[in-house]
Amino acid sequence: MKKYLLIFILLCWVAGVLSLLWYPMVDVPRTVREITYYDKAAHLVFFGVMAYLFIVIGIAWDKFKFARIALFSFTAVTLINVLGEYAQAYIPGRTPSYLDFSAGLIGTLLAIPLAYMLNYAPRQKLLLHVCCAPCAVAVAEILQAGYKLELYFFNPNIHPEKEYRKRLAEVKNLAKKFGVKLRVGNYDYQNWLEAVKGHEADLEGGSRCELCFTHRLQSAAELASRRNFHFYGTTLAISPHKNSYLVNKIGSAIAESMGQKFLDKDFKENNGWQRSLVLSKKYGFYRQKYCGCEFSSRNT
Ligand code: SF4
Repeated sequence: MKKYLLIFILLCWVAGVLSLLWYPMVDVPRTVREITYYDKAAHLVFFGVMAYLFIVIGIAWDKFKFARIALFSFTAVTLINVLGEYAQAYIPGRTPSYLDFSAGLIGTLLAIPLAYMLNYAPRQKLLLHVCCAPCAVAVAEILQAGYKLELYFFNPNIHPEKEYRKRLAEVKNLAKKFGVKLRVGNYDYQNWLEAVKGHEADLEGGSRCELCFTHRLQSAAELASRRNFHFYGTTLAISPHKNSYLVNKIGSAIAESMGQKFLDKDFKENNGWQRSLVLSKKYGFYRQKYCGCEFSSRNT
């Protein structure tokens, strides 16, 4: 909603600026005319605000890196600036001016660091542990708007390795679609078996799963600490087959023991799971038929 409102404001701004540039005679009050370079300052503000709005919309869209957004904004606003000046050659009472163009260009350039400092840099870094693309897609959609998001695929519980590769490929696909960085942990199934030793025969949802969550979230918390993320979180809790309370309790306890912050959220709320079904279908993600380990696959 916010981005559509911003687009509307931008369109109004562009229309307003071009109207002023192309209006045959703009009647400027004398007090304003007496200010030195008032018209240059006006060009600087007109195009600076335009570039700023372009960038803020790009950030709100949350699909592209800042450099791409800035480049697009610079190109679009400079083209409008060129067009605005060029067309004045054909409008009675107006003349194109290199100085006006340059003032607009300076405004466009100044808007880039300003938008970065005010809108992009302050977002907190969140490392999101993802179990699979279908679960991650709705969570990533929710979190991307408020955080600087990176994904972490660490799921050595998945068996066999062919299945692991398949789910990893889908998560890579998801990261590409959302324009977010993906980090991939080691696939050490033997180590995971050690972590759940003695609980192989447990029912799904029991102690084996508790140990499995701990194993994976511990790794995510360690990485988040090493890489200075403000928070870490997980997509595990969105599935109706997982106990959100338990997942969040484990995540919070690990975070506390490491001086880290865990994003304690129940993504099932507000139809999170239904949204993940819709988005998975839209993107054509592969949906697995069992949780991940060989024991869950046998039960299925
Ligand atoms: S059923 Fe799922 S959560 Fe439980 S141990 Fe197996 S892979 Fe882990």
